[in-house]
Amino acid sequence: MTQTQAETYQQPDAFGHFGRFGGQYVPETLMPALHELIEVYHNLDESFWREYRSYLKDYVGRPTPLYEAKRWSREAGGARIFLKREDLNHTGAHKINNTVGQILLARRMGKTRIIAETGAGQHGVATATVCALFDMPCVVYMGAEDVERQSLNVYRMKLLGAEVRPVTSGSQTLKDATNEAIRDWVTNVADSFYIIGSVVGPHPYPAMVRDFQKVIGEECLQQLDERDLKADAVVACVGGGSNAMGIFYPFIDKDTRLIGVEAAGRGVESDEHAASISKGKPGVLHGAMSMLLQDPNGQVALAHSISAGLDYPGIGPEHAHLNDTGRSAFVAVTDEQALEGVVRVSRLEGIIPALESAHAVAYVDQLARTMRPDQVILLNMSGRGDKDMNTYEKHIKPGA
Ligand SMILES: *Cc1c(COP(=O)(O)O)cnc(C)c1O
Repeated sequence: MTQTQAETYQQPDAFGHFGRFGGQYVPETLMPALHELIEVYHNLDESFWREYRSYLKDYVGRPTPLYEAKRWSREAGGARIFLKREDLNHTGAHKINNTVGQILLARRMGKTRIIAETGAGQHGVATATVCALFDMPCVVYMGAEDVERQSLNVYRMKLLGAEVRPVTSGSQTLKDATNEAIRDWVTNVADSFYIIGSVVGPHPYPAMVRDFQKVIGEECLQQLDERDLKADAVVACVGGGSNAMGIFYPFIDKDTRLIGVEAAGRGVESDEHAASISKGKPGVLHGAMSMLLQDPNGQVALAHSISAGLDYPGIGPEHAHLNDTGRSAFVAVTDEQALEGVVRVSRLEGIIPALESAHAVAYVDQLARTMRPDQVILLNMSGRGDKDMNTYEKHIKPGA
């Protein structure tokens, strides 16, 4: 994208298209609900945003710090590395920025019941949290397989008062849970609000979730400005793409490289990865056209990543579009490299990252070496590692 194009960046169009991606591929019965949502969302007044910002400040704990990782930067021997500390948010990741926004919207619309679906359980926990805060009944759909694998998050959701419904159809994972959530929404559309956890789903969700997450990048711009610095590169891990879109968006019209890090799992040449941009094809999932992992028959393929939050076969349509235009770039990092990233930033900075964020760490460790000491890399530390301790214990030997 040239500078002039970037200056006029305005996506999506009125129909929710980001270039050839996005749109609304949903049952006809949901169209009125999406139109209602678009109408309300586009006409939110200043009092809504004031309320949203006050919860981000007093409940979530924003602004999150921008921290210069000096030991790591020195060790890597290249650019200066700055960490945007989304791991310090209430509930330990960026996801809460979005669920706070959507539940406030649900209240404005007079909805009285919340539906969500979750894979790893992180979005389910962030949704159950805000439902407790606002006293709303909450039903979370989760594949039966995931219920088994993520028992601690299931317990958290229940402790917060949510109902977790295991889904036993299909592969018993996220995409089946999504189908069930949409089925529930079709049936209960009059009183229920569907909280989607990333920049995915039918229009207006990708744009709306981006707008609830862009506070990350906006704070970074201000925090860099206070230090008289500019970012040469912004790096974030990508599952559905919400933490990446949140930090990228305010930089789209700047002279800054934007790099998304996908999960390469056991390698992009194996069948076990989650690299939707690098290895996917255009297709429809969750009500939108985007890049998507597919089998030779065009069926959605199962993704693999050691990190549950990146284990998703699709990616938000705006990322697919930014990749199309060349405005952003995507790379992929393996399970093994991510685990090395965990050790690196734990030992050098005293910060134990989430497995998802560790993918971005692993890439930044390489990227920094190719850059000059007067250059700046901004890394979105999307979450903390507490939830991943069992995995770390299994794969990382103490003293290694
Ligand atoms: C869920 C999650 C992700 C992936 O989701 P995005 O929508 O791609 O941001 C990344 N990091 C953490 C810590 C998560 O919990």
